Amino acid sequence: LKDLEKRYTKGGNLVVNKMNLSIRKGEFIVFLGPSGCGKTTTIRMISGLEEVSGGDVLIEGESILHKKPKDRGVSMIFQSYAIWPHMTVFENIAYPLKLQKLSKSEIKERVMAAAEATDITALLDRYPTQMSGGQRQRVAVARAIVVKPKIFLMDEPLSNLDAKLRVSMRTELKNIHNKEHATSIFVTHDQSEAMSLADRIVIMNKGVVEQVGTPMEVYHDSATKFVASFIGTPP
Ligand code: ATP
Repeated sequence: LKDLEKRYTKGGNLVVNKMNLSIRKGEFIVFLGPSGCGKTTTIRMISGLEEVSGGDVLIEGESILHKKPKDRGVSMIFQSYAIWPHMTVFENIAYPLKLQKLSKSEIKERVMAAAEATDITALLDRYPTQMSGGQRQRVAVARAIVVKPKIFLMDEPLSNLDAKLRVSMRTELKNIHNKEHATSIFVTHDQSEAMSLADRIVIMNKGVVEQVGTPMEVYHDSATKFVASFIGTPP
């Protein structure tokens, strides 16, 4: 991300303010910060769901701003699952591949592999209303995996789940990230989630990056007063 900026209204506040960040291939990055600090806006600009007001987003050195969301090589997973209620699990996962006009046999093969990776093979004929929140979120993850993205963008994907499931799904998401050799950006305001998942945490406040570091670094060596108070360690 190069000097990335966003303002929603002309002359309005910058909700993302000259954000610079290099993410390495294979990293699990967590954007952590209080409500309204610009985390969601930032990943929506990366995915192409939101226009940028300034700066650039590059993947492997190439600007992606001119590309449509589906051509950017990214998959987004939302808090609300965003799966279709009128489609079976199989149809939901197959949907992005149908848009790519893949053959039936290739679609089947890839859906089966994604279902296996997320442990929902037994649910492929069910409808979303017949499943628990955790199972629905697995479907959303399977649908994100199936297009083999370069980058996973996850916007508080676990926050609708109960506390126990949140913790077990954390581990599963990390395992899937590793297995798929993915690069992931995960948005949360939950510190313990950030600490347990991240290779590096990006701490944001009011549209500005306060610190980028490993969980240990931000915890033991806070760069700013804000980070120290947000993480809860003495400055
Ligand atoms: P949360 O953790 O609550 O989801 P966040 O860190 O993801 O917060 P954003 O959703 O990116 O924050 O919002 C950043 C700022 O931009 C907030 O002040 C918000 O009110 C504002 N904002 C977000 N979306 C819009 C919009 N569509 N139009 C105008 N302002 C918006």
